[in-house]
Amino acid sequence: MKVLLRPAVLKAGDKINMRIILLGPPGAGKGTQAKTLAERLNLAHISTGDILRENASKGTQLGQQAKEYMNKGALVPDTLVSQMLTQRFSQPDIQSGFILDGYPRNINQAETLDDVLKQRNMGIDMVIYLDTSESVIIQRLSGRLVCSLCGRNFHIKNMPPEKEMTCDDCGGRLYQRTDDKEETIKKRLEVYKKESSGLVQHYQEKSKLFSVSADQEAPMVINKIIQLIDEYNDSHKK
Ligand code: AMP
Repeated sequence: MKVLLRPAVLKAGDKINMRIILLGPPGAGKGTQAKTLAERLNLAHISTGDILRENASKGTQLGQQAKEYMNKGALVPDTLVSQMLTQRFSQPDIQSGFILDGYPRNINQAETLDDVLKQRNMGIDMVIYLDTSESVIIQRLSGRLVCSLCGRNFHIKNMPPEKEMTCDDCGGRLYQRTDDKEETIKKRLEVYKKESSGLVQHYQEKSKLFSVSADQEAPMVINKIIQLIDEYNDSHKK
């Protein structure tokens, strides 16, 4: 794994055409960090969890199929998620770079991603691993609130909204995800250990892995991620 060396120089609004994966257990803060990064660096934010939840709330065929797995804390079958990914990658915004959040979740999905990207003459630049301890994960997930309109995350204790159950940004209604209940959290962590934790080694072997301690508050984590991206860009200047 690689370490940080110097202060970041990337500024909000800078354009960088990069393809980045955020890796880490549920509760590591992938969604929060990916949303901020995408806004600051003008990258497309691709969250397979968000796409699946949107399908579930609209009652599409995919959503109906996915819901039963999601509510149990299990992974949605690879074939369904891969189709969804291929569709998402046919949209033009990915040409200027993207952040993947929640995909891949296992080695099979990592291989599918490689194929999908290869067909488009693309590859992944960086895989950023949000290293998080189990106690922090449980504390974060059990208090998480999500905006039903813009997807911003809050926390009952650590980051409460100004007005009860209302998003500070867009005024949307906040809700608790059905899979953020204690039993389902445990199941999701088991699934992560069994299915996803091997991806850290997978990308380390490909020399793509960069690690950030994600037990800290979100603004500190985002600064470290931006430092890493900045450093990467610096050392890969043509
Ligand atoms: P997330 O929002 O990333 O925590 O994902 C929520 C749920 O959506 C997961 O617990 C899975 O049930 C499902 N899901 C999201 N991404 C994937 C994926 N890449 N593969 C399979 N299931 C997924």
